[in-house]
Amino acid sequence: MEKYNPKLSNCRLCDSENINFYLRDYLNNDIYICNNCGIQFLNPQYTDEYLDDYYSDYTSTLGDEWREPLRYGHGYYMSIIERYIKPGNMLDFGSGNGILASTAKSRGWNVEGYDVDCESTQRVSKEIDLPIYCGDFSAVKWKKTEYDLVTMHQVLEHLKDPKVMLYDLVSKLKKGGVIFVAVPNISSFSARLKFFLERIGVRKKRVGRYYDTDHHLFYYKPKVLKNLLTDMGLEVLHVTGCHKVRPGQSKIIRFIKKYTWEKLMLGSAFLIVARK
Ligand SMILES: [Zn+2]
Repeated sequence: MEKYNPKLSNCRLCDSENINFYLRDYLNNDIYICNNCGIQFLNPQYTDEYLDDYYSDYTSTLGDEWREPLRYGHGYYMSIIERYIKPGNMLDFGSGNGILASTAKSRGWNVEGYDVDCESTQRVSKEIDLPIYCGDFSAVKWKKTEYDLVTMHQVLEHLKDPKVMLYDLVSKLKKGGVIFVAVPNISSFSARLKFFLERIGVRKKRVGRYYDTDHHLFYYKPKVLKNLLTDMGLEVLHVTGCHKVRPGQSKIIRFIKKYTWEKLMLGSAFLIVARK
């Protein structure tokens, strides 16, 4: 099985040919940067064959201790979204363990989901009693023609053609509808610190580990994603750090994190809410 495609000679987001090598990580994967739009990306990218094989083994097993913290964090995301749009029809792209979809359902949203692996989507769909489709995205029989909300929680970084998928999903939004995108932040404090320590030779083990190149293909900064959505004609409403809560964390720690570390986008991921 071929693992890599031929090397890309231009940027998948802005088509610019002004791209160059940025970093080779501990897996010997090369990361490139586009000097026009600022996106960083795996180059060469994996073949579809390799990714299909990778995701057939990619079961998101979730320990029970994680359910409450994830529900809490996802409830917070929904509360941000509901500042801009009231509960209606929602399309959850990349439903994974189904926690965002079920949290939204409990808040009055009418949710349909999608994910690649049919075996796990069937299991999750049963568990949370919501339709979650799988397989060829373009062949999915959606119940609605338009949605009030599209959510993409930690999924855009996995996609080989993020821009095409974004256009596809935005076309399913009604005018005035809202899209929620959460991705890892490659310009986070910890990523920048690790990068710096690697550059000066202090950090030598597992160089570039924070890129997760074994399954993440594009590496976003808040500004890059903001510009991408704006260029698609969307109005960016909200940008903030993701609220990452852990099992056993006290309410006060969650509160402090939410209003300091995450507000300042120092954490490892960020989210954007934008309107069509
Ligand atoms: Zn670019």
